[in-house]
Amino acid sequence: MSHELAELLFPHIQQTPAVYFEQYPARHLPEGAWVSRFAPSPTGFVHIGSLMAALVESKVAHQTGGVFFLRIEDTDKKREQDGSIEAIVQNLINFGLTPDEGIVAIHPEREVGAYAPYTQSERKTIYETFAKFLVAQGLAYPCFATESELTEIRKRQEARKVKPGYYGEYAIWRDKTIDEVKAQLAQGKAPAIRIRAPYPNPKVVRFHDHIKGDLEMPGNDQDMVLLKSDNALPTYHFAHPVDDTLMRVNIVIRGEEWLPSVPLHIMIFEYLGLPLPGFAHIAPIAKMDGSSKRKLSKRKDPEAAVSYYHEAGYPRQAVIEYLLNLANSDFEDWRKAHPGVPHTEFKLKLDHMSKSSPLFDLTKLNDISKEVIATYSAEQVYEHGLAWAEQFAPEFAAILKHDPAYSIAIFNIERGGDAPRKDLVKWEDMEASYGFLFDQPFAAGIRQHGYTWGKIAPSDVQMILTAIAQSDYQISKDEWLNAMRAHAEGMGFARDNKTYKKAPDQYKGHFGDFMMVVRVALTGKTNTPDLYEILHTIGSERVQARFAQALTALT
Ligand code: GLU
Repeated sequence: MSHELAELLFPHIQQTPAVYFEQYPARHLPEGAWVSRFAPSPTGFVHIGSLMAALVESKVAHQTGGVFFLRIEDTDKKREQDGSIEAIVQNLINFGLTPDEGIVAIHPEREVGAYAPYTQSERKTIYETFAKFLVAQGLAYPCFATESELTEIRKRQEARKVKPGYYGEYAIWRDKTIDEVKAQLAQGKAPAIRIRAPYPNPKVVRFHDHIKGDLEMPGNDQDMVLLKSDNALPTYHFAHPVDDTLMRVNIVIRGEEWLPSVPLHIMIFEYLGLPLPGFAHIAPIAKMDGSSKRKLSKRKDPEAAVSYYHEAGYPRQAVIEYLLNLANSDFEDWRKAHPGVPHTEFKLKLDHMSKSSPLFDLTKLNDISKEVIATYSAEQVYEHGLAWAEQFAPEFAAILKHDPAYSIAIFNIERGGDAPRKDLVKWEDMEASYGFLFDQPFAAGIRQHGYTWGKIAPSDVQMILTAIAQSDYQISKDEWLNAMRAHAEGMGFARDNKTYKKAPDQYKGHFGDFMMVVRVALTGKTNTPDLYEILHTIGSERVQARFAQALTALT
């Protein structure tokens, strides 16, 4: 009867699963190599948690000499959004996680790998072949239950206070005759294919999760859908065992939300007579909301989207190092012990991942990002900063490109050395932190905000600027500072703060106040990198022009 039923339902499928085991042979990889995959659904949003999963999957594979591939799980056509595959692939490329197989490039799209197709909607015949096999064994059956019948079942279960679902006596199509199936088919109805689960199922499922440890869960007793009635595409539950087996995945690393379904998945592997892969379930990234911890939400938290980091201009290295930090908290110590070593050298351990949700911390990301940018050369800052600006701040990009050598000289101020300046967290900050050293943003800033001389009287500002405009700074920094100090004292400023504090009414201010006038005149700002370096970098023509501008503003 089962064979007849299988033939009735799948007359167009004449091969058995064996065909695919030949088509997709075992991979030849070194002992202990993990084959992992990133398997997103193209729903239009790439969550930072997905990027972390992809990072973990890629590292685990690559550090063992294995393979990391991308599989597009597009079996839920209702949730699919245009452009999402492109966004997924682009994000992987942007963050240095280009898969070894699957879609590896867009414009034009390019798929590589011997286990193709890597998009589930193109694998329909494969799933049907496996479903037919299960029906033929009596391990799956067609179900023509309508939406309203399913609703009615749910209501009955609620009234009886029993668990919801399609099982046991509620599995109304489980034991129908072949004639009843034929009658439905004759009316043009298409069935869902459901697994035949034992009910009750006394079995306890025991398995090892590489993150969560040894787990024990009740066996599945629900006749879950394997192939959907509307388009005969598989559910996630069915596609996962079929694809991960044929694509020779030996470690399934995925979100914790799939953990409750593992007994069902294991049942499908067993029904198909397939060996189990390893499992590792990652806890979702959480954040504090008041005093409670909750999942980072696509709806409420802009930082949940990977695009947020790209748009703000966090260097990809910073985001990746931050995610490594969330994945393995010992990464931080490793980083300290191995400054300058590429993070790809860090060995990630699944069993060091947190069993519960790690907390997202923007301050920590910012600290890491600051440190990462501090290690960049001026040329790298220019190159990365410009790439960001071309996309997100085109006007500033034009300024940066106007005189690349000058831009690089600016980014070189207080860069390198033992204590590099850490004023850039992300490329978005570049204009605020360095824009004033370029003529156009400086002029625009001054027009908008004017100069803020603080407590220094305009007559003193005039005196200071006139004197400094003529001073020579083509001398060493110490000599220049001494000369400045001498000027300050000559004009009635205390040589330092301590001297000033002893007798404030005898002075116009202290050396710091004097230098602040120079700083403001040169930059329009009260907080800047080293003045001496600025003078040298922007050059005497600009210095003169800026002083002249400041003096004009006084009169
Ligand atoms: N398509 C599933 C999801 O996006 C994939 C889960 C998995 O990695 O197996 O949640």
